[in-house]
Amino acid sequence: QFNNITLDSLLCRETSYTTFLPERYKNVTLVTRAIVTRILFKGTQAVGVEYVQGKNKYSVGVENEIVLSAGAIATPKILMLSGIGDEAELGKFDIDVVVNGKEVGKNLHDDLFVSAGFSIPENKPVPIYPYSLAPAVIFGSTTNSNLAVDIESSVGVGTLKGFLGPRNSFWLWPNVMHLKSKGTVTLCSDSPDDAPLVNPAYLSEPGDIESCKIALNLGIEIGNKSSLSPWRKEQIAPKPGTDLESYIRETADTTYHYCGTCRMGYDENSVVDTKLRVRGTSGLRVIDASVFPLPITANTAAATMMIAYKGSDIIIQAP
Ligand SMILES: Cc1cc2nc3c(=O)[nH]c(=O)nc-3n(C[C@H](O)[C@H](O)[C@H](O)COP(=O)(O)OP(=O)(O)OC[C@H]3O[C@@H](n4cnc5c(N)ncnc54)[C@H](O)[C@@H]3O)c2cc1C
Repeated sequence: QFNNITLDSLLCRETSYTTFLPERYKNVTLVTRAIVTRILFKGTQAVGVEYVQGKNKYSVGVENEIVLSAGAIATPKILMLSGIGDEAELGKFDIDVVVNGKEVGKNLHDDLFVSAGFSIPENKPVPIYPYSLAPAVIFGSTTNSNLAVDIESSVGVGTLKGFLGPRNSFWLWPNVMHLKSKGTVTLCSDSPDDAPLVNPAYLSEPGDIESCKIALNLGIEIGNKSSLSPWRKEQIAPKPGTDLESYIRETADTTYHYCGTCRMGYDENSVVDTKLRVRGTSGLRVIDASVFPLPITANTAAATMMIAYKGSDIIIQAP
């Protein structure tokens, strides 16, 4: 699974949407162009959903339960707007506390990628790619161990769709997984219209910059291999002699693998329990990447779909 594309049984590429086509189920009603603003509670029981569509606000009641799947940034935002979050944070905006869930919006994890780039001689033809997917991936380890894979390096060329750098270039983009830094998602107001404050706290934990340096050096080493010399004119990023820590701090970027902000766990502080129920409430589950308790060793879409499958089994089996 790569860039939200899965393969069907004939190995043709299909998107998550075409794979699952929710409207083919007779018992599903899709409300589109609607923004959920709050979960409505009676005491600690989730009883409905408030949403806006155009200029109108609606609320719908539920008979059974609500499943919140707005992703690792929006799910904690909706929970906090609904009164589930750290009471000190909610108090800043006079939001009535339903559950004092101290870890809602905490534990934000993301992978970072770093870039090693090389120019390609002008006389070499560079294949044109009609898509932005890196055509190859290399797995590696910052500890040189087969048991602890934590580098997933995409490999691509400057002709990838949407790439802003030079066309005659090839790149290694090591994605560094299992970083220690943890960020936060907090509210900046009590208005659903306002985006939440996302502080990814990248590279704030000791050790993360070292992991990124090792991953970057791996990319530099592979790009400089003699077998690639016909394709390599020179190393263009980082320029040889560049201070790698400064380069990483300036250029490392998100892989959009946000997760962990509504951590699942056995402990009381976790946001959801192992049945994905929001602790302290009834009738409310979270099923999306926000429940990952720990970062995974891969891109996050397939694992999120796996959680959705597991979550639907849990719901079907629930009394
Ligand atoms: C640019 C990009 C590239 C990526 N590439 C890859 C990749 O190659 N491979 C991979 O495995 N993963 C990739 N990912 C990560 C992957 O897409 C996510 O991990 C995965 O989609 C997470 O699923 P989710 O259900 O938690 O959240 P999402 O897929 O974000 O789903 C949440 C949904 O909730 C909706 N929503 C949010 N707030 C509200 C609201 N208030 N009301 C109504 N609806 C709301 C959103 O519109 C969205 O449709 C990529 C992500 C991005 C952004």
